Amino acid sequence: MPSSDQPATRAPERCDLAIVGGGIVGLAVARELARRNPDASICVLERESQLGTHQTDHNSGVIHAGVYYAPGSLKARLCVEGARELYEYCEAHDITHEHCGKVIIATDRSELARLDELERRAKANGVPGLRRLDAEGIRELEPHAQGIAGLHSPQTGIVDFLAVARSYAHDILETGASIATDCEVQSIRTGERALLLSHTHGATEAGNAIFCAGAWADRLAVKAGANADPRIVPFRGAYLQLSAERRDLVRSLIYPVPDPSLPFLGVHLTKHIDGEVLIGPTALMVGARDAYRLTTVRRRDLLDTLAWPGTWRMLARWWRTGVSELRHAALRSAFVHAAARYVPELRVEDVQVAFAGVRAQALARDGRLVDDFVFSHTERALHVRNAPSPAATSSLAIARHVADEAERTFELSG
Ligand SMILES: Cc1cc2nc3c(=O)[nH]c(=O)nc-3n(C[C@H](O)[C@H](O)[C@H](O)COP(=O)(O)OP(=O)(O)OC[C@H]3O[C@@H](n4cnc5c(N)ncnc54)[C@H](O)[C@@H]3O)c2cc1C
Repeated sequence: MPSSDQPATRAPERCDLAIVGGGIVGLAVARELARRNPDASICVLERESQLGTHQTDHNSGVIHAGVYYAPGSLKARLCVEGARELYEYCEAHDITHEHCGKVIIATDRSELARLDELERRAKANGVPGLRRLDAEGIRELEPHAQGIAGLHSPQTGIVDFLAVARSYAHDILETGASIATDCEVQSIRTGERALLLSHTHGATEAGNAIFCAGAWADRLAVKAGANADPRIVPFRGAYLQLSAERRDLVRSLIYPVPDPSLPFLGVHLTKHIDGEVLIGPTALMVGARDAYRLTTVRRRDLLDTLAWPGTWRMLARWWRTGVSELRHAALRSAFVHAAARYVPELRVEDVQVAFAGVRAQALARDGRLVDDFVFSHTERALHVRNAPSPAATSSLAIARHVADEAERTFELSG
């Protein structure tokens, strides 16, 4: 795969299919289509010098089992299928992963109805092995945690999604398809027989294209002629980590009962595949689509967010949550306090700053935070318009879904 020790591949002048975006979703889609169409010329065009630089490398690393998602939604189906396929893929490709299981904890009676609803959803979605817990059951699994009731999902696990994405890239190159990095697609023109993608290497005439550009998905879709709705609004997710001596406070994954009307799962404590224990992420609307530092603000990103009517509608509804997220971002003690609801022994002295990711969250014009995955079409092109969590877990199933759609829509020649 492209890395510092390998010369970068130039983007081809012509190809049958271009995949724009070399994150885990774009790479999974390219891999699936390259395997199905060995005679077609397929290339991946990635803006950064390395693959998977953005969300793929800045997340909780959790293989979700499908507990949360509304039955019948794309997320529900593609997460359950995707998790199963991802475990098989990791086994087959020797990628380190662990079925460590997860506990979702209710700490007071007001959360019990939501916990019931999660149990109902998980069962409807076919999540394997789900079990209800009482206070004693919680302590058996997580001796330092406390709660009055919980759910245990033994099939939830952990992996390094960047390692998975790199392995997909390896598979792609093995099929003979190409991957060009440092290649930002800047404009899209629809011709009679092809799309002309202008980029930093020059231009590629592509029979068809699939755009999997994460936080920049809306901009490319609009350039290809799509509606501006939904817009991507960046939500920064910062993590703390436990100091090495306190990692024994958490055995596997401890999650709160989330608010079902928000697409975020709340501050959780998660063992990472490298042995660290993460606490987070926060969910703070920020001024740049790559705001890995809180102080990074990009004029265009900020204007796009502020000029979007959905932003103001969302803020009118969720301002209280916004204020609480701001406190978590600004005050480490408030952040730790939120996690200590589940692990009371946790102290501010036990944690240090880890890293932050930026969620590419689609926001509808009417102010709705779009919960489900969204895919759409323009002429000769498909667009992944909303692929937030659990899209990394679901990447292989999303790839099948998009490839089926591509086969229905495009004539992929060889
Ligand atoms: C804080 C956080 C925690 C998360 N936790 C989990 C989790 O535990 N489990 C899980 O399943 N999911 C999780 N997710 C979600 C998951 O990380 C994402 O859903 C997934 O990585 C999306 O992959 P992607 O390929 O769509 O996006 P990305 O990885 O962001 O890739 C998009 C790519 O497109 C490229 N690109 C953009 N514009 C252009 C252009 N013009 N030309 C060429 N290339 C372009 C970008 O450089 C980038 O490499 C989390 C996300 C965040 C932020």
